[in-house]
Amino acid sequence: VSFSPLFSDLIKAFRCLPGVGFKSAQRMALHCLIRDRGGAKSLADNLLRGLSDIGRCEHCNTLSETPRCALCVHPKRQHQMLCIVETPADVLAIEQTASYQGLYYVLMGHLSPLDGIGPEELGMPKLRERLCDDQLEEIICATNPTVEGEATAHYIANMAKDLKLKITRIAHGVPLGGELEFIDGGTLSRALSHREVI
Ligand SMILES: [Zn+2]
Repeated sequence: VSFSPLFSDLIKAFRCLPGVGFKSAQRMALHCLIRDRGGAKSLADNLLRGLSDIGRCEHCNTLSETPRCALCVHPKRQHQMLCIVETPADVLAIEQTASYQGLYYVLMGHLSPLDGIGPEELGMPKLRERLCDDQLEEIICATNPTVEGEATAHYIANMAKDLKLKITRIAHGVPLGGELEFIDGGTLSRALSHREVI
């Protein structure tokens, strides 16, 4: 039962968001129509404008409203290093550390054959083209240390084998400030096998 077909449509539309079920969608729709019409209008306007004006950077595949994003055209970035990550959020996380000065390539996901995302769907041919850049010396596979992330990193390493690039993977191990007894076996075993000289 619904008091308004348009209201039902609005609920349905909110459900396209991740983790939003019927109840949450209904709460959001009610909030927009009753509590904050101004905010809702602004949300709708920004959504439309973003969808029409935000595309992909031709160089690193991240979201950008110019052909090349601000990071790719930044004069101080080192062009010989390319860090390959899964999402724009990963770029932001690495940028926050202020410990990397190279460029990025954003895959917008990871290989996941069960969901129908193979190398073509993930845009591996485009990445391969990017890797042929003469200035490039090292690629860092910074995909997540999940089964899919590892598989994606292996695929990229394999794809770049013939390009005379240094291919590295971000290290995995014990979190800073952590205690060994509470760390999962897989992480601890990886930390031991990838130990470094101090
Ligand atoms: Zn870019």
